[in-house]
Amino acid sequence: MSFKSFDLLPNILENLRVSGYQHPTDIQQEVIPAALTKRDIIAVAQTGTGKTAAFSLPLLQQLVEQREKGQTLRPNTARALVLAPTRELALQVDQSFKTYGAGLNLIIECVFGGVKINPQMMRLRSGCDVLVATPGRLLDLISKNAVRLEDVQTLVLDEADRMLDLGFAPEIDKLFNLLPKKRHTLLFSATMSDTIRELGTRITVDAKHISV
Ligand code: AMP
Repeated sequence: MSFKSFDLLPNILENLRVSGYQHPTDIQQEVIPAALTKRDIIAVAQTGTGKTAAFSLPLLQQLVEQREKGQTLRPNTARALVLAPTRELALQVDQSFKTYGAGLNLIIECVFGGVKINPQMMRLRSGCDVLVATPGRLLDLISKNAVRLEDVQTLVLDEADRMLDLGFAPEIDKLFNLLPKKRHTLLFSATMSDTIRELGTRITVDAKHISV
């Protein structure tokens, strides 16, 4: 199987070629076509399976398509939000979006705690297409009116199990109260448990369940 069968933009296909990716991994074969139809997804996949590209490629594709339909970016908003448990993972995801999305003219920002908040506030002023964030810092930025979630159309929870293990459940609940109810949601977790199942049921609609 080739990435070409997903009908991705030539620019994205070229970025994958430059990255040296020849074939989609198992998780990518399952997630990409479903996500491109805006189906909600609950996926159990470990790091190393190619899960980051599995959610970032369809997201990039849709962000470009929506922009071509005339959708504009408003100040202090984000069109897609990826929540990650740690600064390290957030930075990795941010880098993947930038690599796969090179040349697409999308604004990709990354925010996390443990560093000064002011530069992050400045970077969010003009709005971003993709915001990669850790939950606590995102709430801080929201409380300072640096970002609003009302324009988020796609939400990804990456490493949801780790997010809960780190005690982010209250932050996640607060963020869900601020997100539009009508949205596209993708949940990725390295493990499946009753808590993750319950979270998945609560935040997705008619999700496709994928396990690799
Ligand atoms: P992830 O599971 O998202 O952390 O990705 C694991 C590693 O696999 C990363 O270094 C990616 O660059 C790489 N990767 C992702 N998709 C592919 C692919 N289709 N072909 C080759 N390498 C890939």
